[in-house]
Amino acid sequence: MAARVFVITGPSGVGKGTLIRALLERVPELELSVSATTRPPRPGERDGVDYHFLSDAEFDRRVGAGEFVEHADYARHRYGTLRSELERRVGAGAPVVLEIEVQGARQVREAMPESVQVFIAPPAPEALRERLLKRGTDDPATVEARLEVARGELRARDEFPHVVVNDRLDRAVDELEALVRRELVPAA
Ligand code: ADP
Ligand code: 5GP
Repeated sequence: MAARVFVITGPSGVGKGTLIRALLERVPELELSVSATTRPPRPGERDGVDYHFLSDAEFDRRVGAGEFVEHADYARHRYGTLRSELERRVGAGAPVVLEIEVQGARQVREAMPESVQVFIAPPAPEALRERLLKRGTDDPATVEARLEVARGELRARDEFPHVVVNDRLDRAVDELEALVRRELVPAA
């Protein structure tokens, strides 16, 4: 049986990164695919660890060379999953986690229908603004651009077979962990 690919998606600020960090501690065999982006690094982000930070020209070149499994434009920047990131890990038999936005999740669903697709939802739409402001990594215009995209993303929730509501963090991590462990075990 091929190693599992877990796609974790949902609107910006919902807590995908926070949930995944906790999940990786609890299920250490999971490996996180490092995405490519044209967005500038935030303070403390490291190239090759948090993202592969690419210029627009380099991103284009790689799209042309067919190096992406999926890629999407998101709030004025580009993001994508490199085939090399995914294949190296899946080839080694490791279950892989992709943290990507909704357009990318749809592309992975087409390319890999066997992937496990999880939508992370906020307890209420207003929580997104609060959380993005609390995170403090984006200027007000960027927060508004992300909330605008989020309105469409929230409507995609019903496309996903698994939905985890990130209300209380520890409860949501428990639910995500249980889901992942269920899907890691091959069907009897
Ligand atoms: P995403 O990766 O989806 O953009 P983050 O993981 O960066 O979101 O979380 C956005 C902000 O919300 C962070 O400041 C994080 O600490 C906070 N956060 C995450 N989960 C919760 C939660 N369940 N309740 C309250 N705040 C949360
Ligand atoms: P951020 O700029 O906050 O790191 O990410 C913005 C959005 O891009 C988030 O929703 C994040 O999940 C998504 N994202 C990160 N990497 C990828 C990727 O490789 N592909 C796609 N499609 N989206 C990604």
